[in-house]
Amino acid sequence: MTKPDIRDFTRQELARAMVSLGEKGSRIDRIFNFLHRKGAESFDAMAGVQEELKAKLSSRYSMAPAPAVEKLVSKLDGTIKLLFTFQDGAKAESVLLFNKKTVSACISSQSGCACGCTFCATGGLGLKRDLKPSEIVAQFAACRREAGRALDSVVFMGMGEPFMNWANVKSAILILSDNKGYNFPQSGITVSTVGVVPVIRELADSHLTIRLAVSLITADDKQRLELAPVSAKYPLREVIGAARYYADRTKKAVLFEYIFFDGLNDTPQHAEKLLARIKDVKCKVNLIMYNPNPAGNNLKPGNIEKAKEFQKILVDAGIRTHLRREKGSDIAAACGQLAAGLEIPKPA
Ligand code: SF4
Repeated sequence: MTKPDIRDFTRQELARAMVSLGEKGSRIDRIFNFLHRKGAESFDAMAGVQEELKAKLSSRYSMAPAPAVEKLVSKLDGTIKLLFTFQDGAKAESVLLFNKKTVSACISSQSGCACGCTFCATGGLGLKRDLKPSEIVAQFAACRREAGRALDSVVFMGMGEPFMNWANVKSAILILSDNKGYNFPQSGITVSTVGVVPVIRELADSHLTIRLAVSLITADDKQRLELAPVSAKYPLREVIGAARYYADRTKKAVLFEYIFFDGLNDTPQHAEKLLARIKDVKCKVNLIMYNPNPAGNNLKPGNIEKAKEFQKILVDAGIRTHLRREKGSDIAAACGQLAAGLEIPKPA
């Protein structure tokens, strides 16, 4: 039988596991600290921990070897993409984005994705598998090492739909934010969903203080159904309803993401349509140009002048917006381009 990986445990889970071995108190925090602050890669690497305790732990639990990591650097803007290959061959990517004074890590929650959004390279791959908490945390640790400094923010906008692997993503967030571990503030973590309504509501009712981003993509139901098949289960009205519930419960603004496709959803009428849907939600809107990728069939990126006109309509109505400049497009690191070097089957 495969032994559970001890790095998948939150501190509470580790405490339960160690209490069942007759351990307690400061020893629990010490082991957690070795795993999630000092980055111990084996039980033997826990210098100073009693041999008897290490033997007990290793008889019950495993520690998977660190993933292989390959690195690509954008010649356009210095964005860094890291490709992780885990023990079983599953792959995922993280992206390090450098702004004037800040550095942000965009990390993956799944290898591939089952949602099948037609504009997204990850969706073109289908779901390979969920990532474990330790594999999500390993991406954070590698990004931090690569940045050579503390990260300012972490966004779950890499490969996968985080709310379809929520139990593992939540554990990873609890590990990252634990003050005996990495101690990364939850307020610096944003989870982006294509609109998994029940989990948006669960997050609203939870004690987590992370931020929520909802990828609306477009404000038209028919278009959205074509671009994001998950809309058949979670229509826009319900997605925005859940986002409103989150904003009301948490008093935090929701970040809505709108993607510009040339000739599809980029006119002033589309801006009015979006406005009508979100005007009573405490929110900010990120306007993102579609980034071409092999999954995107006939889709084309929007036009910047039209996007500015669109933005003005939202701003005039009092909505905070940001017209996002995409980074890392020369290394396929921009939004919607992550495919972990795997071949994307041609769209039908
Ligand atoms: S956009 Fe997000 S939810 Fe949609 S297929 Fe891509 S990774 Fe999955």
